Amino acid sequence: MRGEFSRASLGHWPDLTGRARIATGEAGVARCRRVWNQGMPSESQLNPYRCDQCGAANVVAAPVLYQEGTRTYSGTFYSGVTQSHAALAVAPPKPRGYLRPFILWGPAIIILAAWASVGMSAIYKHPSSSVLRSSTVALFLLLCAGANCGMIASLRRIARHNRDIYPHLYRTWERTFICRRCGRALVLPL
Ligand SMILES: [Zn+2]
Repeated sequence: MRGEFSRASLGHWPDLTGRARIATGEAGVARCRRVWNQGMPSESQLNPYRCDQCGAANVVAAPVLYQEGTRTYSGTFYSGVTQSHAALAVAPPKPRGYLRPFILWGPAIIILAAWASVGMSAIYKHPSSSVLRSSTVALFLLLCAGANCGMIASLRRIARHNRDIYPHLYRTWERTFICRRCGRALVLPL
């Protein structure tokens, strides 16, 4: 993301256009950045809060734009939130909810557990039942355990996403600036 931004900024520094064209890939970007740092400060370096596409200084932070477009209303019997299209477009990232795995795996676990318990009670009542029946119950139990493992795995995946990836996404959102003129979103490196 940082690399992308630097590359985009370089395009607006006329002195560097020749050298910027040589640069390809990540190594090239690093080389460009070094030259950029040694040379004269560019306009976007002096004022980083400037759109790197149209040059307008009218950029606004995504959290501000989100706040501006979000209105809460309340009456005697109603309350709620309305959001403009602009606010919806710059909505902050949300942590993932834990409900989905329960909805996906829950019914399968309940059905398999019910079948297994029905089979087990049948074996308990009629111990002379065939071997096939007990193996079927074992299969149900195995599938039930598998569904449990699946649910736990997806819950852990969500927890890992919320712990490791979500804070990064949120910090990036906080540093995102939107140009009011052309709508370009740029992430400012800290
Ligand atoms: Zn712009």
